Amino acid sequence: MAKIFCVANQKGGVGKTTTTVNLAAGLAKVGQRVLMVDLDPQGNATMGSGVDKRKLELSVYDVLLETATVAQARVQSAKLVDAGCGYDILGANRELAGAEVEMVELERREKRLKTALVQVDAEYDFVLIDCPPSLSMLTLNGLCCAHGVIVPMQCEYFALEGLADLVNTIKQVHANLNKDLSIIGLLRVMFDPRITLQQQVSEQLKERFGDKVFNTVIPRNVRLAEAPSYGVPGVVFDASSKGAQAFLAFAQEMVARI
Ligand code: ADP
Ligand code: MG
Repeated sequence: MAKIFCVANQKGGVGKTTTTVNLAAGLAKVGQRVLMVDLDPQGNATMGSGVDKRKLELSVYDVLLETATVAQARVQSAKLVDAGCGYDILGANRELAGAEVEMVELERREKRLKTALVQVDAEYDFVLIDCPPSLSMLTLNGLCCAHGVIVPMQCEYFALEGLADLVNTIKQVHANLNKDLSIIGLLRVMFDPRITLQQQVSEQLKERFGDKVFNTVIPRNVRLAEAPSYGVPGVVFDASSKGAQAFLAFAQEMVARI
């Protein structure tokens, strides 16, 4: 049975997509069978996995509206397969922005992704879901099918404040919709050890959340930021870079935790 994880944080630009695609590639590299689901209408995880979002014939939108199955809509990227980091991609594009409104009328609307993933569950070790920067119906679909949430966060002043809203949402989903759901861990990303404030917030996180804070820390690294423009995750773009090495270590930590 696949372990399903959402990468979520309602703030934008905190490293969700970078975490999703690099973890997916890192897990694939060590032989795990991975499906990456892009739940963000921006389609960054799709593009960052080497799939042109404008050319998708079927996407996660069709799966949510039940006009296609995951098996019909998933695609692969030759670049990733050639690099030995191939994973399946359930892509997204602007069409998905309409799903929110279109789904209002539908029954079981928060459980659509869950229902769809059941059919391919046995084919994967991990399903990673890249969530949009909101606590919307799309994110709710992700949270409803997940066993756990990975929360990437920058160690900045307002980080803890934003976390409280996410923790509350996860508690509510746990109580009402998905008994399996918990926070697997907080991942410190874009970390710069020279900045004292980041060290302080990092310490606060560890005091408050203990072993829910992943051991691996992802440094700020320009190679990770450059990778998307080449349509590959950082671990494929430059495997020897500090950022890639950190994500490969994170993949190992995830495998060990599960
Ligand atoms: P989100 O999905 O939460 O909006 P992204 O993963 O798209 O966040 O990251 C936001 C921006 O920061 C992107 O331009 C990305 O390339 C860059 N970025 C993410 N992680 C790092 C990192 N560790 N070092 C440097 N740049 C990063
Ligand atoms: Mg994103």
